[in-house]
Amino acid sequence: MFSVNECESYDLPKVRKALKNCLKNLGGIEKFIKKSDTVLIKPNLLMPANPNKSITTHPAIITGLLRELKKTGCKIIIADSSSGCYSKECMDKVYAECGYSGFKEIDRDYSSKEYHNAKGFIKKYGLISQFFKADKIINVCKAKTHMFTTLTCATKNLFGLIAGKDKTYFHSRFKTVDDFSKMLIDLALIANPCLNIVDGVLGMEGEGPSRGRIKKLGIIAAGTNCFETDYFMSKIMGIDSNKVPYLKIAKEKGLFKESKKDCAEFKKDFKMPHSELISKLFKLIPSNLRSLYNDFFIKKPFIKDNCIGCGMCAESCPVKAITIIKGKAKINYSKCVRCYCCHEICRYEAVGLKKGF
Ligand code: SF4
Ligand code: SF4
Repeated sequence: MFSVNECESYDLPKVRKALKNCLKNLGGIEKFIKKSDTVLIKPNLLMPANPNKSITTHPAIITGLLRELKKTGCKIIIADSSSGCYSKECMDKVYAECGYSGFKEIDRDYSSKEYHNAKGFIKKYGLISQFFKADKIINVCKAKTHMFTTLTCATKNLFGLIAGKDKTYFHSRFKTVDDFSKMLIDLALIANPCLNIVDGVLGMEGEGPSRGRIKKLGIIAAGTNCFETDYFMSKIMGIDSNKVPYLKIAKEKGLFKESKKDCAEFKKDFKMPHSELISKLFKLIPSNLRSLYNDFFIKKPFIKDNCIGCGMCAESCPVKAITIIKGKAKINYSKCVRCYCCHEICRYEAVGLKKGF
């Protein structure tokens, strides 16, 4: 089930009205949450960023959701693991800059535990402790294009359940987008959020998830199945769902069904990330010329003069291609796998992307 409502701004009354309508169309919050439940609200807090940058879930959506949830009498916790470390120091900064400091429901236990999934694509995950405390998860994501996975919305947001730097390990382990997508699907099935709420008031197009352009979409949406939610959001964002690797695989596995409902009245075409255009052209190139083509056309990260040598990019690089030398980051291109984690995480915008040898 999927529901979408217009929401022109982050004014709380407008957010509450849109959210209420979405939940009502799905059967009401009481259909999903009981008084005895502990509910984990999992926002998208990719990095410390002002909510106006449209990188992270806007706090007004969380405030609106808290008001609805409190009607049920359930216990509520809020937690996410951003791109950096899962520690008090890192996450205090994230919660403060993202406008979350005032939420007393934030659970500041930064431990993690192993989740074993003997029959899954991945046998073991290190997940944030709040995953184990919760009876239900409400996934509150942001609608953005993504340079690696094409789309980041409900399904990709669940990657933040993996604690801290274990995410870096997963990036290095799954270098192809298809393998990464299979891992994401596996994780989404484990998390099994009972509700997926999309902050689509402002989204992001182009070089998302952190360095694209803000795109006004003017909606809040909600769905009961994270894959189906993303399928409808791809329609709304003008993205062919077959071009989103994890949606293509999820559809083949029968995890959601296509629908004729087109949500045309909400549709706004999003500009695709550079990587998506490159992969389209890649298929037209003879196989013996593909590596040359890759070297020239796939943008590589480079360090700008304003780098302050904080080391966040080096910590997040899955293949240890970055070292800090004399107070500046330096990239070893022979190791770089073009995952763009460094570009995503640098809050000083000191990692640029360029084409060419
Ligand atoms: S590039 Fe950015 S993240 Fe990396 S060391 Fe420089 S300032 Fe820090
Ligand atoms: S240098 Fe940047 S783009 Fe290259 S592998 Fe490391 S994090 Fe990814």
